[in-house]
Amino acid sequence: MLQDTIGRVHNYLRISLTDHCNFRCTYCMPQEEMEWMPQSHLMSKEEIIQLAEIFVKLGISKIRLTGGEPLVRREFDWILDQLSKFPVELTLTTNGILIDKHIPALKKAGVRSVNVSLDTLNREKFKKLTRRDQFDQVWNNILLLLKEGFRVKVNAVALHGLIEEEICDFVQLTEKLPLHMRFIEFMPFQGNLWESKKVITAAQMLDIVKEKFEVEKLQDKKHDTAKKYQVPGFKGTFAFITTMSEHFCGSCNRLRLTADGRIKNCLFGKEEIDLLGALRNGEPIEPLIHQSVTRKHAALGGQFDPDYLKTIPEEIENRSMIKIGG
Ligand code: SAM
Ligand code: SF4
Repeated sequence: MLQDTIGRVHNYLRISLTDHCNFRCTYCMPQEEMEWMPQSHLMSKEEIIQLAEIFVKLGISKIRLTGGEPLVRREFDWILDQLSKFPVELTLTTNGILIDKHIPALKKAGVRSVNVSLDTLNREKFKKLTRRDQFDQVWNNILLLLKEGFRVKVNAVALHGLIEEEICDFVQLTEKLPLHMRFIEFMPFQGNLWESKKVITAAQMLDIVKEKFEVEKLQDKKHDTAKKYQVPGFKGTFAFITTMSEHFCGSCNRLRLTADGRIKNCLFGKEEIDLLGALRNGEPIEPLIHQSVTRKHAALGGQFDPDYLKTIPEEIENRSMIKIGG
């Protein structure tokens, strides 16, 4: 069992398959020239399975595949298929652009739920945010996933000044579509030009929604990162991920494995342990995983004040989001 010093049990692993991406989201990629990881530094497909197997033996029961963009990894279907042999719930977070090519593989692997990122319903804004003109493909793929019977959560990064005019449109979508909208407060990472004034909090967003809709609070589960709501009678739900205004570190059950095979015990932590190097040297991996879990900070990677207004982005020591995977 992967229990830390304050009793949190870790059973959820997010594996980043690559730092590459076919989008260029401004809030995710560093502004300066991105240095991609050399191929030889990435976990091979076999190494991913070897490491995943060790995690599963230690109690991991849910694995999320992420990136960069996980679907740009050519071996995605093979990796998914191999992971599906473990007793785990499998899922992924994707920008959605390539998902139509992978529906059979997702079904075969028993994937039931997919998170798709979509920050705007406006084509021009989409182009500006992702630096790609592919809104229609993403939207059609969301509809395809629903048609194919997947549970679909849509992740929108909430940027102050941009989300306000669209938040009710997103909620409106949940009337006819069984979508689960999730508005994520903008988080600071290396090079993403984060400023506290660009954050819009869940409370502020909820006020905007309440001006237009009657809103019911839904019950959240213990490890949920999202605070869920529904407009009575609507098919879908909406939720806020309140990392900045009200962190949920006390019930965190998540570990991360980066594409270059390092374990991160926290999205915001700077400490990493190189599991891939150890694997390649034939060294035991389990003690390193335990070491990482034991060293986990109580909150926010030990780096930030829970009051996000006090966060100084220049002092953050971490990877960019694209190199962690969310
Ligand atoms: N490429 C995939 C995608 O876009 O869904 C997976 C990787 S992406 C890094 C994972 C999630 O992190 C996405 O939902 C993305 O919107 C979110 N994200 C990226 N940068 C963020 C930031 N600075 N604050 C909050 N969420 C962020
Ligand atoms: Fe790529 Fe996802 Fe980051 Fe956008 S949020 S740049 S799609 S990894």
